[in-house]
Amino acid sequence: MKSLDFVIVGFGIAGATIARELSQRGQSILVIDSNRNKATAIAGGTIHPAVLRYYNQVWRADDFWPKAKIFYQNWEQELEISLVKTRGLIRVFDSKQEPELWRQKREEHFWNQYLNPLSDVKSEQLSHFNTPHGYGMSEDFWRFDPKLLLETYRQRLIDQNQYKIAELNFDSDQALNKAIGSLGYKAERVILAQGFQQTYWPGITHGNPIQAKKGQYLIIECPGLNLTQVVKTKFFLIPLGQDYYQVGATYPRLDQHDAIMDAQKKIRADLDALLKLPYSIVDCWDGVRPTTKDRRPILGALRSKKNIYVFNGLNSRGLLMAPLLATWLADLMLDEKELPQEVSINRFF
Ligand SMILES: Cc1cc2nc3c(=O)[nH]c(=O)nc-3n(C[C@H](O)[C@H](O)[C@H](O)COP(=O)(O)OP(=O)(O)OC[C@H]3O[C@@H](n4cnc5c(N)ncnc54)[C@H](O)[C@@H]3O)c2cc1C
Repeated sequence: MKSLDFVIVGFGIAGATIARELSQRGQSILVIDSNRNKATAIAGGTIHPAVLRYYNQVWRADDFWPKAKIFYQNWEQELEISLVKTRGLIRVFDSKQEPELWRQKREEHFWNQYLNPLSDVKSEQLSHFNTPHGYGMSEDFWRFDPKLLLETYRQRLIDQNQYKIAELNFDSDQALNKAIGSLGYKAERVILAQGFQQTYWPGITHGNPIQAKKGQYLIIECPGLNLTQVVKTKFFLIPLGQDYYQVGATYPRLDQHDAIMDAQKKIRADLDALLKLPYSIVDCWDGVRPTTKDRRPILGALRSKKNIYVFNGLNSRGLLMAPLLATWLADLMLDEKELPQEVSINRFF
């Protein structure tokens, strides 16, 4: 039986970031994943500090965004890949009032940095789009490729004997340790990073705190559109290369079939109004976001046993938040630093 500092169950962005963080701090790790990843691999990969449609700043954007940029840039270098596919965002305005809102927002410090002056727009980008109210641009926006990140890092871990494909079934600490033992390992500590599939929540007052929220993208082919930056209307239109675009995502509840169908219709209606060129739908990708009632992540030790930890509740901003959350979790586990209250699992006991 091989002894390790940490076993991490789940290899979405939560499992991947904490694996990297702990390895960098000299810990021995093993990642176990069922290889049925549902959220991270299909995520749009957009990371940015604002919700442009509503002109809201993302919660703790000033902490998450700078950390994410440095973290992913360093990871790109380590893995020798190019993760960031496009920078900059084009916001197509919804109404004739929106350009004025854009100008007013630019008088505030945060928005002044984030929104380009309207005089900066480069009109040739959107020649095949209907933009009756105009559009604005922001440079401070990344779209990176989460699937490429997972595939490359997974291979790196496999090469170092730090990755196993297995589905762990457990409903007690003993069963969890036994399942890990059956693979030939035992660990000082275990981190559950299972996304919406986590069912083991001992001691939580109202049971499983994770709400599963489905998200869908339509994949379209639109020859001649020649778009190289991400466009934001109600949805994101993300260039994938070779005339393919990823459009979405929707946010219906997992158990509401009608809502899922309605959401697809909404994407199509948005596209019909936006594009001057014909397009065809070639695929539909879906995944499930692990959300919580208060929309905040869940980090910390399962109270029943101090050596089992949770990294979950990443909601719709997992890619943005995971780098800093992984640092906070590692600080807690290795240095006993307290977590910010808003993300601590203690709020559920
Ligand atoms: C459609 C959609 C679009 C999104 N777009 C964005 C975006 O543009 N930007 C952004 O920041 N965020 C986005 N998100 C949110 C982001 O994808 C999630 O917050 C994040 O991926 C959640 O990561 P995770 O690691 O918690 O879960 P997951 O990615 O679901 O990973 C969990 C892993 O655990 C494994 N697992 C579970 N149970 C077991 C078990 N018992 N044994 C072994 N393995 C197990 C699963 O197979 C899976 O691989 C989007 C989400 C969706 C659904």
